[in-house]
Amino acid sequence: MRPKILVIEDNEQNLYLTTFILERHGYAVIPAQDGRAGASLADQIVPDLILLDIQLPEMDGYAVAQALRSNPALDDVPIVAVTSYAMAGDRERILAAGCTGYIEKPINPDTFVAQVAAHLPDGPSGSGDGT
Ligand code: MN
Repeated sequence: MRPKILVIEDNEQNLYLTTFILERHGYAVIPAQDGRAGASLADQIVPDLILLDIQLPEMDGYAVAQALRSNPALDDVPIVAVTSYAMAGDRERILAAGCTGYIEKPINPDTFVAQVAAHLPDGPSGSGDGT
C-alpha cells in the first residue's frame, strides 16, 4: 500500500510541487489548504506522515501541530514542518509544538523525498518509482 502523506499547505505552487514530487515517488498525497481542514482530514485518514506548512491563514502551523498532537489517534504519525523560518528559535518552537522535524523552504526537489522518507518508519522502501 502506498504511504499516505497529508500535506497541509496554503500556497498552491508549493502544494503542486510537493504533490508532484511525492506522487512520482509512489506516495499518495492528501492535500489540505488550511489547518482546520488538515486536522479534520488527519483524524479521518490517519496518514503515515503529515507535512505541515508553518505560515498558514487563521491557525498557523504551530497551532495546527498542537491540535494534531492533542489527538491520540495521531500519536504515531510524524509531523514534519515545512518552513522558510530558518531561525534557531523557530526550530525549537516547531519541535516544542509537537513536530517531529522540519524541512526548509524552498524545497529542494533532489533531496525532498529523502528528507520526507527519513521520518517514515519504513524509510523510502516500498515507495519505488521503478528506478
Ligand atoms: Mn503558507
